[in-house]
Amino acid sequence: MPGRTNSIGRHLPTSGGLAGTVEAARELGCETVQIFVSNPQAWADPRGRQDADTFVAGSRELGISPVVAHAKYLINLASTSEEQRDLSVLALAHELAAAGALGVDLVVVHAGSHGGDGEEKGMERLVEGLGRARERAAGLDGAPGAVAEPVIENSVGAGTQLCSTFEDLGEVARRGGVRVCVDTAHAFVAGYDLSAEGGGRRVAAELVDVVGDAVALVHLNDAKNELGSNRDGHRKVGEGRIAIDAWPGFFDGLPGIPVVMETPYGTPEADSEEVLLVKKLAGGLRKAPIGR
Ligand SMILES: [Zn+2]
Ligand SMILES: [Zn+2]
Repeated sequence: MPGRTNSIGRHLPTSGGLAGTVEAARELGCETVQIFVSNPQAWADPRGRQDADTFVAGSRELGISPVVAHAKYLINLASTSEEQRDLSVLALAHELAAAGALGVDLVVVHAGSHGGDGEEKGMERLVEGLGRARERAAGLDGAPGAVAEPVIENSVGAGTQLCSTFEDLGEVARRGGVRVCVDTAHAFVAGYDLSAEGGGRRVAAELVDVVGDAVALVHLNDAKNELGSNRDGHRKVGEGRIAIDAWPGFFDGLPGIPVVMETPYGTPEADSEEVLLVKKLAGGLRKAPIGR
């Protein structure tokens, strides 16, 4: 094995201040991190943070790359309601700008639901909404020079959710001019059998085959629920339905793609052990130079 090329990290809380977030990243050995820049369950826009400069300086000093934010869960660019679509566009624009001010590179956005209007209509709305949100973000008053890049995440395929397949992710990438984030727990419950013999390698190959170089990020979560159940739920790596031997082949098929865990918080010891475990599964503790 030529060494590890994937940066490994996890979602971290910001409730104790962003200096605390940087400290946690250091303690857990994170090489990449994900945060929320606003309350993900409410429409209130992100507020400017006094500790923004501390976060920018701290994450740079630690060499955190990429810095990732997860957008509000409420955002649905594909909604049947025009009012909800407009609200979603505006909310995403504010998140992209606020994330940019924190030095965030990528903002993960859910693909949303077509609400019964059909996948074709939903995809059209999603692509259109993405374009509007990016335009809007760039023009926001006080938006800094750098606006973060939106990446679309695959869904579990519940109800009328869009993008539970790699084909759909590939389509939104091509039509929307965006990159994507693949959540492994979502892919598994949507029917991608990572647990089968050689499954990790095969699923990674299929992803690269269909989405190409538009894969920006992996959300590495073990699945609480069964293959094909279309039900979300994350477990710590090795504690869910996905066989732990799926991962070395999976990482091998996705060289250089950063990996963020969104698994349940444990003790600091348990969380740093999980980061360590995933680093080992991805090829070792030391990171090989990019491009190996
Ligand atoms: Zn998500
Ligand atoms: Zn999930």
